[in-house]
Amino acid sequence: MNECGVVQDLLPLYADGAASEDTVKFLSRHLANCPVCRNAYRSVKREAEAAVPHITMEPEDRRFLEIRDRIRRKRTLSLIAFGAVAASAAYFALTDLIRSEQKNRKDA
Ligand SMILES: [Zn+2]
Repeated sequence: MNECGVVQDLLPLYADGAASEDTVKFLSRHLANCPVCRNAYRSVKREAEAAVPHITMEPEDRRFLEIRDRIRRKRTLSLIAFGAVAASAAYFALTDLIRSEQKNRKDA
């Protein structure tokens, strides 16, 4: 059996820290004695580290942007709602004032 082939198949898991305890033991033992697989592990690890920002950061960023947009949208909506309430309150206050002003003039 070609142990190196098995080891190199498992290296991505090992580099991700996703391998089981037994696999980790097996791989560490093999890597300690096999320069070929050690070399392969180095390049797998380099690839895994280079890939980490793309794999784990991108969805996080997207989620962050979604949440930020949702908050912004909510803030905009409540500003619009507040503006509408304030505007109609001002409108009613003003028409009330005008009406009572007209009434006073008529009475006078
Ligand atoms: Zn090997």
